[in-house]
Amino acid sequence: MSTLPSHARTVVIGGGVIGCSIAYHLAREGRTDIVVLERSKLTSGTTWHAAGLVRMLRPSATLTKLINYSIDLYGELERETGQATGWTQTGSLTLATNPGRLTNIKRQVSLGRAFGLEAEVVDGARAKELWPLIETDDVIGAVWSPADGRVNPSDVALALSKGARARGVQIFEDTAVTGLQKKAGRISGVEVGDHVIEADEVVIACGLWSREVAAMAGAHMPLYACEHFYILTKPLAEVQALGKGAHLPTLNDQDAFLYARDDVEGLLVGCFEPHAKGLPLDSLPKDFSFDLLDEDWDHFMPMMENALRRIPALEQAEVRMLLNGPESFTLDSQFMLGESPEVPGLFLMGGMNSTGIALAGGAGKAMAEWIIAGEPTMELNEADIRRFSPEMNVLGALEARIPEVLGRHYDNPFPGRSMDTARGQRRSPIHAGLVAAGARFESRGGWERAVHFGGEAAHLPLSFSVPAWRDQVAAEVEACRSGAAILDQSAFGKIMVQGPDACDFLNHLCAAQMDIAEGRIAYTQILNTRGGVESDLTVQRHGPETYLLIVGAGEVVRDLKRMRETRGDFRVEFTDVTSGYAIVGLAGAQARDVLQETSNTPIPQLKRFHFAPVEIGLARGWAGRLSFTGEEGYELYIPSDMAMAAYEALVEAGASHAGLYASGSLRIESGFRAFGHELTPGTTPQEAGLGAFCALGTDFVGEDALKDHDPRRQVVSLLFDDPDAIPIHDEPIYFDGKVVGQITSAAWSYRFDRSVALAMLTSLPEGLQDGDVIPGFEVEIACNRYSARISRKPAKEAFQ
Ligand SMILES: Cc1cc2nc3c(=O)[nH]c(=O)nc-3n(C[C@H](O)[C@H](O)[C@H](O)COP(=O)(O)OP(=O)(O)OC[C@H]3O[C@@H](n4cnc5c(N)ncnc54)[C@H](O)[C@@H]3O)c2cc1C
Repeated sequence: MSTLPSHARTVVIGGGVIGCSIAYHLAREGRTDIVVLERSKLTSGTTWHAAGLVRMLRPSATLTKLINYSIDLYGELERETGQATGWTQTGSLTLATNPGRLTNIKRQVSLGRAFGLEAEVVDGARAKELWPLIETDDVIGAVWSPADGRVNPSDVALALSKGARARGVQIFEDTAVTGLQKKAGRISGVEVGDHVIEADEVVIACGLWSREVAAMAGAHMPLYACEHFYILTKPLAEVQALGKGAHLPTLNDQDAFLYARDDVEGLLVGCFEPHAKGLPLDSLPKDFSFDLLDEDWDHFMPMMENALRRIPALEQAEVRMLLNGPESFTLDSQFMLGESPEVPGLFLMGGMNSTGIALAGGAGKAMAEWIIAGEPTMELNEADIRRFSPEMNVLGALEARIPEVLGRHYDNPFPGRSMDTARGQRRSPIHAGLVAAGARFESRGGWERAVHFGGEAAHLPLSFSVPAWRDQVAAEVEACRSGAAILDQSAFGKIMVQGPDACDFLNHLCAAQMDIAEGRIAYTQILNTRGGVESDLTVQRHGPETYLLIVGAGEVVRDLKRMRETRGDFRVEFTDVTSGYAIVGLAGAQARDVLQETSNTPIPQLKRFHFAPVEIGLARGWAGRLSFTGEEGYELYIPSDMAMAAYEALVEAGASHAGLYASGSLRIESGFRAFGHELTPGTTPQEAGLGAFCALGTDFVGEDALKDHDPRRQVVSLLFDDPDAIPIHDEPIYFDGKVVGQITSAAWSYRFDRSVALAMLTSLPEGLQDGDVIPGFEVEIACNRYSARISRKPAKEAFQ
């Protein structure tokens, strides 16, 4: 204990692969004075018993990029540190036994091509050549990805720790952090018994213990552990027959919930079983270290039967052990990293969802860069801890949801898929009305969101091709155009901003001019210092010193954090009033008539982007003339306790319903950009085609980065020529045979009877004018190329 310092610039808690990687990358980026504290020995938590598979092809661009970097690093670390990582490039083979799976793995191949990753679609016969031990009668196709491989997880962590030590990082084992200290709300140090290490920054990388360690500082880290199984066999003649030093590729048989690889001349066969076992933290001994959980053959047996069918040689195998280790998962099956929204200076990374070894290199680097730069240096939205509000960190919800997350790890990511457990955590004030109207809900960020109103019959079966809801949504789209359709937007965040400096503060925070008249609404973005978009919002002026910000669903935590960081000396207060109001969109040509029908007082004649009080049935709220769809209509803001009264009056007056699928289709046709899709922290307003909304000269954050900025990257509208093309997200776009961009949002267009999309082009054809429509593009979806045309204008104007 006496050797512990009393101060460090950065303290990393946890000596698993994640903590070691963060420390290594911090040091590599030039950060000094770093201390790592490990309760037991390095790698003694979950890291030591991982299967070590590293598979690059993933359903998202971010994950693929991070793992791509990991592979490069794991190949190089031995040269740098002298410690081998066990990196072996065996390639991987992923089987498909049904058309949905085949499409999914082909989609991943296409996505990988956007980053130059080459993988090959093969048939069953070739799959058997690559993995001679498997039965392939039911295999309808497979993907062979030569770049993938495996590592020895403990050795990766040890190589990283060696590299970190060589750069001056101090690592203390047998040193448990027992408390965290704060000064004026900011993290200020860690307690190790009676000893305190004061620190400027603290990083929690404690694996499945992270939630409890974060709670020591009042921070939220919603993750929970599950039991996770694989078997190891004794040597098998069939594996030995491969020859000394030869390896099988990693096998993924996701339809059978299995993965496998050779292991010391035998086999390792693991699973993501559909009915997983949650693991309450208090069931683990306090000194759990290099430990395992009890074998559970009854639980593993169905998976064993699947394995015997796929790999008949297992019949003869002697099982060495059924390994059962703990691993932590998150509510939405994405890992989390970032600075705690509640405690500045406290950084968190965990909930690795059984991909911690594959991700450690790339994600550790991303975390280190974030700590140094004060904000993410790459696109990390899907993993950003700010997507979880404190309300979601409920043990009951985690216990209910997390076993399902493990159980669905190998699910096909079909559009329309949603978790079944922990539902109804956040419901709109008009939820009961939407249920009665036949809404089909998806769980998004804890909220129940109505996606369409055809119920289950119009939702299933899920598919990558024509969805079951296409006709249902056609009717909803039509209602949004020619009728009056209720679109529940209550999940949008609402932040009240008040104080003598409210206007000046918002002018500093937001890119548009905020000194607007009372009763007006401004559309704007919040930017980071690089000019990238951090939030996309509308701002209502309610009084000289009072504004209401309407921000994206799930963006409140992120926006409040940024607002606190930007407040400085401005005399301003902000309050999250999300739960206080419903937002009911009323879209379509009949919207005004229907609204008037509900009210005994005249509905005001509103110009676009103005709002005024309205009475709706027995309720009172206010109406803004704007829409999320680009169609005629209103957004109605109603106190939560009056929302059902307003809703009932609207339905009584003839309003119908529309869900997120309808509004998404209309949004994309209208060319409206959405945060997390077209708008990201790495995208400037100019690149997004929103430069005209920036009030240069008002000294807003990010303004300097926008001056003289002539972007080559551009968000464009894209229309497919072929109605069979069904894109989802991230698909690569080709021009002249080269990848020139990716899809950022896509939907079926009921106007054109073809898919329409928004896309980010990394290099725009020279001389493209606003009105131009350029054909000759191709989009690759599941290894098929589809021709398409693009324009900078909204699709509904450009492609008439
Ligand atoms: C059976 C199994 C197979 C897997 N296979 C794969 C695979 O093939 N590929 C893959 O990518 N991933 C795999 N994983 C997942 C992977 O192992 C994890 O995601 C990864 O190891 C998590 O690393 P970590 O550093 O976050 O956690 P850990 O390794 O658990 O490290 C956390 C550390 O924090 C320490 N700690 C906790 N509390 C404190 C405290 N108060 N003070 C100080 N230290 C503290 C712990 O002692 C521990 O050493 C597998 C997991 C399991 C269980």
